Amino acid sequence: MFLLTLVLAASPMNTKSIEAELLKTHGEAQRARIERGVRQVATLWRKEDGDLGAFAREHFLVDPKDLDATFNRFEANFEQLDGHFLEIGRELRKSTELDVGPMLKVDPFFAEYDASAHLTEDLFNNKLGFMVLLNFPLTTLEQRLAAKDWSRQQWAEARLAARFGRRVPAAVQQEITSAQSAADLYIAEYNLWMHHVLAEKGERLFPKGKRLISHWNLRDELKANYADKDGLEKQRTIIKVMERIVTQAIPASVINNPGVDWNPFTNTVVTAAAGTLEDDAPKKGAAPSTKPEPDVRYGKLQANYKAQAKADPFSPTAPTAIDRSFSLGAEMPEARVKELLESVLKSPLVPRVAAQIEKKVGRKLEPTDLWFNGFLPRGSIPETELDAKVRAKYPNAPAFAKDIPRILQGLGFNAERARYLSERILVDPSRGAGHAMQSARRGDFPHLRTRVEKEGMNYKGYNIAVHELGHNVEQVFSLYDVDHTLLAGVPNTAFTEAIAFVFQAKDLELLGLGKPDAEADRLRVLNDFWMTWEIAGVALVDIAVWHWMYDHPKATPAQLRDATVEISKKTWDQYYAPVLGGKGTPLLGIYSHMISYPMYLFNYPLGHLIAFQIEEQVKKTGKIGPEIERMSKVGAITPDAWMVNASGEPVSSGPLLRATEAALGK
Ligand SMILES: [Zn+2]
Repeated sequence: MFLLTLVLAASPMNTKSIEAELLKTHGEAQRARIERGVRQVATLWRKEDGDLGAFAREHFLVDPKDLDATFNRFEANFEQLDGHFLEIGRELRKSTELDVGPMLKVDPFFAEYDASAHLTEDLFNNKLGFMVLLNFPLTTLEQRLAAKDWSRQQWAEARLAARFGRRVPAAVQQEITSAQSAADLYIAEYNLWMHHVLAEKGERLFPKGKRLISHWNLRDELKANYADKDGLEKQRTIIKVMERIVTQAIPASVINNPGVDWNPFTNTVVTAAAGTLEDDAPKKGAAPSTKPEPDVRYGKLQANYKAQAKADPFSPTAPTAIDRSFSLGAEMPEARVKELLESVLKSPLVPRVAAQIEKKVGRKLEPTDLWFNGFLPRGSIPETELDAKVRAKYPNAPAFAKDIPRILQGLGFNAERARYLSERILVDPSRGAGHAMQSARRGDFPHLRTRVEKEGMNYKGYNIAVHELGHNVEQVFSLYDVDHTLLAGVPNTAFTEAIAFVFQAKDLELLGLGKPDAEADRLRVLNDFWMTWEIAGVALVDIAVWHWMYDHPKATPAQLRDATVEISKKTWDQYYAPVLGGKGTPLLGIYSHMISYPMYLFNYPLGHLIAFQIEEQVKKTGKIGPEIERMSKVGAITPDAWMVNASGEPVSSGPLLRATEAALGK
């Protein structure tokens, strides 16, 4: 398979004669364009695509008017393709996503269907993709980062060509999808029945029926335990469980099995004691055995790597999964991302925040405090009171929709802009918690999905709706007010999330309940700092493990396990042990994303940095609305260029660190 893919992709076709011929026809002035275009096409051209020379003769454009008109046609037609495919998907998922009556058996099948799945492949097959590659430049991340004086047209052309920067064969793509869903399924079924997880001395700390998925539920339980008087013992037990999962010393028989009791400290397993069984738990788990899980975790991770690596030869501008994640996904160089993460990890503010936590918990910090959540303030207004207020104001979704112009004016938009936006945001009653769905062509509108209970909207639903409204506002500006629809959107999700959080933080004010107090704000900043610090190390582990896999393509899952444990320990000892102790713990390897969403984790800490940067900028001017409008209209250029336009500075940890410093100072 690997050999075959290499042949398919590289096809070191001799393009010299084709280039010479075009040069003869069009003259020396076109040399650079000819060489670039023909080579871009040749890299992805396959035998079955036919005669490359004939194609190049026919479709190489020289007349600037012709080039412009062709570019405009691509831009207009992609708006239609993207926009209508999005609408098809939205309509097919309507009955599963919206609260519009009972679901039918067929609905999930419609919801999973993606009519656009083969679009890029189709456009290569009918040559449109090659027409783009022959006439418009593919760019590397380095070029885009250096593009200080690019015109908007050049940015749009770069985005157009980038759509055809990769031509991954369907079989390879299928393998990537399969490896990823196998990893997903493995994680989705990785539960621990906590009543049967015993503490160090064999005590049963957790209630019957508590089933926690790794790692999300385990972590959230650990956080919740701060409010509990026996919390620390529970937390230490969870930490031990996590360590056993990372090292794969966890006995296979205890995973998703309420029929056995496991002591993660001694790693012993026995049949669950009589009377401890859950009434409704599945009855047939494995018999008690201490036989460890056979490195399945690392087998799944490695399968992801192997599938991704098969796509490498088809991605000439980003030839590894690591490159793709940074240069196509984040559009920030790996070294720069690491530097940003390290600027938080190495910050002298860490021990100062840690000292505040120590005061709050009244003991020396331990590894469990990686997930300290005690900074989060309790609201001063009881939730029942808030519920009543929101319910009276918004008995149904249309009532919220009607109030959007007033909400927007409360956020600093003038009446005209508030009306402009509210005419372009449609409100739907949602089955789930809430969601902002973008649109991708002008004439179609972003949708705000909000959950409204029978008796009316509650406070939680309202809080989410204000967050989603932030997304929708960004979505309107970055489509309707952007100069090129090929540049519609934001650099990545962190940017739209940051805007949504700026809106969400105003929810009480918008209800007429006054500004959040300074103490609440101070605690929020410290909480965000600690969360960023936590996930920055996890992200570094994820990146290092992917490098290790590329450096050791023939490793066994057991070797990958040992390497991951080593990397996790080393990262812990360097950044966390000085603050939290626990030298040598492999804890940082616990995140499930590492297994099922390869190379995504670094986006979380970046998201926090970006949020603080946008917030700082908005605070400077005091007007949320006009600032968000100005920032969003620039569209999907690189994160650093977007941020320079927004705040005068590239993406930076400065604003988070400044806010933390100020929060500590008070
Ligand atoms: Zn969001």
